[in-house]
Amino acid sequence: MTKALEPGARIGILGGGQLGRMLSVAAARLGMQCHIFEPAENPPAQDVAAFVTTAPWTKTNALKRFGQSVDVVTYEFENVPTDALDTLEAQVQVWPPRRALAVSQDRLIEKEFLTGLGLATAPFAPIVDVKTLGTALGQIGTPAILKTRRFGYDGKGQVHIDETMTAHRALDAIAGKPAILEGFVPFSAEISVIAARSQDGQIAAFDPAENVHSAGILRTSRVPANVPRSVSTDAVLLAGKILNKLEYVGVIGIELFVTPGGLMVNEFAPRVHNSGHWTMDGCAICQFEQHIRAVAGWPLGDGARHSDVEMQNLIGNDVAKLPALAREARTAVHIYGKSEVRDGRKMGHVNRILGPA
Ligand code: AMP
Repeated sequence: MTKALEPGARIGILGGGQLGRMLSVAAARLGMQCHIFEPAENPPAQDVAAFVTTAPWTKTNALKRFGQSVDVVTYEFENVPTDALDTLEAQVQVWPPRRALAVSQDRLIEKEFLTGLGLATAPFAPIVDVKTLGTALGQIGTPAILKTRRFGYDGKGQVHIDETMTAHRALDAIAGKPAILEGFVPFSAEISVIAARSQDGQIAAFDPAENVHSAGILRTSRVPANVPRSVSTDAVLLAGKILNKLEYVGVIGIELFVTPGGLMVNEFAPRVHNSGHWTMDGCAICQFEQHIRAVAGWPLGDGARHSDVEMQNLIGNDVAKLPALAREARTAVHIYGKSEVRDGRKMGHVNRILGPA
């Protein structure tokens, strides 16, 4: 087992978006410094990280220098290019482990991994062309969702298929990319569980949150979720199964559908997760600190919830409501420092404290 990093240690983070920003703040609180590697200029994490390297993923020398400058590497998004990981892993420990990234980067491999663990998912089938899509639609039926296997997020790379949509048109909409067809799950709610595993195998989970999406983008997360205690317990237990199987280190975000037959896993992200932002104001130790603790070889913190919270994302022009939000009582405002407002872009979030837990 690696020795716990001490104050003054350096943590490398691949990606400098809002998650990298909030991870950097948490690391700074523990006395550590973050070094961000990010291809885009002026990333949100730049305001709060000690060091930033601006270079493309293909620039091996820049990656090597970055790897030499840090004690451990982690990432804030799951599409880190494989070659970049190869370069870094030759020099420095990268957490969460490679397998977690490989599984979560590909929806087909992810579904096979989950069902292999005995966990329920939407019915699914691999799609390579019009013929396989036609056969899969015959088996799974409509409504269904066609999703690209890779590089989909916030509802991108997805087509809803009803009986009026032809297989041709659906495939055109995702440019014929390798995909999976998923049966539409008539869920009563969507919840997520944010959990963590330490280097010595300790596991901790935050209370599951109830999530509302629209147009594929998370709008609100609320704790406690309005589900029976047994459902929350099931969510935490299945998180433990996934973490142990992957020999995981760090925080994971697992999205679940609540159905009359029990929980179904939608997908997981091998990183801190938007639906865990409520922990910043609802727990003594938030998901960002929990992740830093895990990758730094520290014991996990106590993720017990002290308050009921609703997290609301500020998407695109929502951020114009900032003056009013800043006046709201018991509301913590988190702004990500993005200069350009765009439709669908996550600009910040607020955590409203609803009362004691
Ligand atoms: P995803 O990108 O897979 O997380 O999908 C984004 C959102 O679309 C989810 O949070 C659900 O609200 C919805 N969704 C995705 N897959 C399904 C499904 N198989 N059945 C019903 N709704 C889904």
